[in-house]
Parts: sequence; structure tokens; C-alpha cells
Amino acid sequence: MPTLRLPHAQVLWDPEILEPYRCDESHLKGPVPMAVVKPTSREDLRELVRLAKSEGFGLVPRGAGTGKAGGCVPTSGTVVVDLGIWPGEIRVSTQDLTLSAPASAWLRDVKGAADELGFFYPPDPNSWPLCAFGGSLATNAGGPNACKYGMTRHWVLSVDALMGDGEIHTFGTGSVKQNVGPSLAQMLVGSEGIFGMILSATVRLIPKPSEFLTLLLPVSRFADLLELPGRLCAKGFLPSAFEFFDPAVLSELRTSGPEEARRLPGEALAILEFDDRGCTSEAFIVSLVDVLGDAAEHLQVASESRQREQIWNVRRLTSAFLKERHPNKISEDIVVPRSRISAFFAGLETLQIPAVSYGHLGDGNLHVNLLAAGETDPMELDRQLKSIFKLAVDLGGTLSGEHGIGLAKRDAFLALTDPYQIELLRALKRSWDPDGIFNPGKVI
Ligand SMILES: Cc1cc2nc3c(=O)[nH]c(=O)nc-3n(C[C@H](O)[C@H](O)[C@H](O)COP(=O)(O)OP(=O)(O)OC[C@H]3O[C@@H](n4cnc5c(N)ncnc54)[C@H](O)[C@@H]3O)c2cc1C
Repeated sequence: MPTLRLPHAQVLWDPEILEPYRCDESHLKGPVPMAVVKPTSREDLRELVRLAKSEGFGLVPRGAGTGKAGGCVPTSGTVVVDLGIWPGEIRVSTQDLTLSAPASAWLRDVKGAADELGFFYPPDPNSWPLCAFGGSLATNAGGPNACKYGMTRHWVLSVDALMGDGEIHTFGTGSVKQNVGPSLAQMLVGSEGIFGMILSATVRLIPKPSEFLTLLLPVSRFADLLELPGRLCAKGFLPSAFEFFDPAVLSELRTSGPEEARRLPGEALAILEFDDRGCTSEAFIVSLVDVLGDAAEHLQVASESRQREQIWNVRRLTSAFLKERHPNKISEDIVVPRSRISAFFAGLETLQIPAVSYGHLGDGNLHVNLLAAGETDPMELDRQLKSIFKLAVDLGGTLSGEHGIGLAKRDAFLALTDPYQIELLRALKRSWDPDGIFNPGKVI
């Protein structure tokens, strides 16, 4: 057990308190960490890095623990670094259209601070009320509106991070335009804590959209939904969100889900949202309906903000609802190009994989859930998972659209990625973190 004498940090040792730190929101559970440290100063971090190197333990960064890839789950011989009380405040510059915040800030407060001043910070993982800003940066989180606004990395200008020399370095600047060679700030975004620890960041803002068209699109044939994302794009419609529930998920929600879900219509269902100026005009809706064709037969417009909120609530609660009903389920988040969504579902059927799906149809990022994973023979489960990943890759997609690799998808990532690229990533890891102290055993 290391001796952790840190000047200002909270250090937790009690096994009962350490227990929750073994998990995140994936299906994985790691060993009890050696300790949990909550640093509050540069001196704490400097000393922590020195001790990690001299005593040979790893440092596992943790935000709010809502990750779905086991990224903050401890591996053996590690100390969890909970950044929840790292100091700092959220600051908005309305002239620069930027926002700076510490890793410890809740993403909801970051988004709220921009919103209060009439601005918009788009990244919206469905966990936004629960996750930390630092975690959202480290996982390059995306969400429903990524189909229009992109992932977290599109918004990041600079990152302050603890590196392997024990010091905090600033990568990038607060300028909205910068072009000084390859961006090291961007390398830290989405690095899942394997290169260093993000302590704060500056991100871009845009003016807040003021007009929303939110539509419920119930269909009687699931297949009718699957061609729509590509068709809409081809006709110049770019939804700010296009989410879906397949027939199995919709039926579970309707029979046992939250009150708002009991009245959801259709055999399968999509939520479609636009935030372009003029999107609520009759002309816009008429031309949209024209593109939707037969799928628009039972289209409903959420005209009041209360109705819009209810619809989004159901979507946000879906993951937690399914987890409560199927605690041993495994949820994947493969992605395929919009034009290959139908082919992906056809492939699942051919491979006889008993998956149910929901998620981000608008950008082909599908949450494919194996509800009976806990009761499935491990060899069969392995076949199912590998087939899902391979199918996505064969269709020009990849293993994860947003949750990342962490521990959960490490083996599949190593198996399905060009070995040259894995070696490059490992060389980068060696140069960013020569002592291998940051999040050992994750990603690569
Ligand atoms: C109900 C639900 C819905 C979700 N929906 C989405 C979604 O729509 N889109 C999406 O992208 N994700 C989604 N997620 C996954 C997850 O919530 C997000 O990835 C979130 O941004 C993770 O933030 P966190 O603070 O909980 O990170 P954690 O789970 O604590 O950590 C995640 C990873 O980042 C690393 N890390 C955390 N903080 C730091 C730091 N400061 N510096 C370096 N590394 C760090 C950890 O080591 C780990 O590898 C969802 C999760 C849940 C439970």
C-alpha cells in the first residue's frame, strides 16, 4: 500500500467507500483500488506523479463515473484520481465566444452557464445532467445533436493537463483560430486518460438556436425508418437530432417504462428535431413531409415546450430504464455510415444476433443491446459481440461512435485495427507517458 502524503488532497482508504469506485456504467467491475485521491492543488498532483513513478502504481482518472466502456474502472495496482473537487470556476467570454471550466464542473452547469447568456455549447451526451466536463472531454462525448454539431472535440480550443513530468501544461490557446502544426490539445480530447489528466479546458460557443421543430415519427414498419437519415441529408435537411427506438425497445418502454412512455405510438419510433431558423414554418414542414414520404403518415409535431421536454425525457431515461430491467445487459455503440444503416440491421438478422437497438440514427451511431448477456453462454456471447463489431467495420463503420474503448472494447479494438496504427498509438503512449502511469491497461 503506498504512503500517500499529499498536502491538500482528500485520500480515501475505507474499503466500503472504495467499493463504488470499482465500477462505472459499463458491465465491468475492477478490483478495489489501492486508494482514491481527490486532489485540490498542483502540489498534490506533483507529489502523486512522483509517488506513482517511485512506487510503481498507476493513476486512473475519474470524472463522474458514467462512462460505458470501463475507462475509469481500476486495474490492479492503481489509485483512482477522482477529479470531482478540483478547483476552478466556469467563465464565459461573450466577446470571444468561449467558455473555460475545470474538469470537475458538471456538464449541465457548463451548458447552463452558456445558455444563461444566450449562447450554446452543443455537446449533449444523454448523460449531460450527470457527467463531468472533464469526463466528457476525455471521452470526446457525442450525443443526439452530434449529427449536426459534431462531437466534443469540434468545440475544444485548449486543454490544461497534468502530464508525466508532474506539471500542468496548456495545450492550444483560447483563440478561435489557431494553426501551429498538429494539435496536441486534440490528442488529449478522447484519449480516455491514457496520455495525461485533463484539469480544465476552453471551448467554443455559438449563439443559441431559438426555433425548434420537434417531431414524433411513429412507423408501422421499422425498415421505413432506416433509409431516412441518408434521404434527408441528400435533400438538404440536416436534423439537429434524429433518435430512434426499435420495436423491441419501444414495446418495453410502453409496457413498463416511465409514465410519458406509455402513450408512445407506432411499431418503431423516431424523434426528429430541427433547429434551423424558419424550421417551424409551413413551407419547411411541407417540404420535409415530402421527403419523409409514407413514413410521415402518423407524424406528430410537439408544439409545446412541455411536450418537447417529455419526449426528450423518455429518450434520456431509456438507457437507465433498460439497465434496471436487464442489469446484466451489454450495450454496444457501433457506428456505420448513414447510407449503411439498413445493411447493418439486415446483417444482424442474418447473423442471428438477438439484439435490441435504440440511439442516434441521424449519424448511424446505434446502441445495440444484448439484453440476455448475463444468461448467455460466454462463447456464444463472444461470437455475438465479435460479429457485431466486425459487421460494423465491414460496412465502413467502427466499434464505437461515442463511448470509447476503455477496458470493455480493448480486445476487439486491438483485433480489428490496423497493427501499424496500434503500434503508432503505443509509440505515442510511450512518449506522452514514458513511465506508463496514466490509466494503465486501457485502450491499447
Ligand atoms: C444514461 C447514460 C447515457 C449516456 N449517453 C451518452 C451519449 O449520448 N453520448 C456519449 O458520448 N456518452 C454517453 N454516455 C457515456 C458517458 O456518460 C459519457 O462518456 C461521459 O461524458 C463520461 O463522463 P464522466 O465524467 O462520467 O467520465 P468517467 O466515466 O468518470 O470517465 C470516462 C473516461 O474518461 C477518463 N477521464 C475522466 N475524467 C478525466 C480527466 N479529467 N482527465 C483524463 N481522463 C479522464 C476516465 O479515466 C475514463 O477513461 C452515457 C452514459 C449514461 C450512463
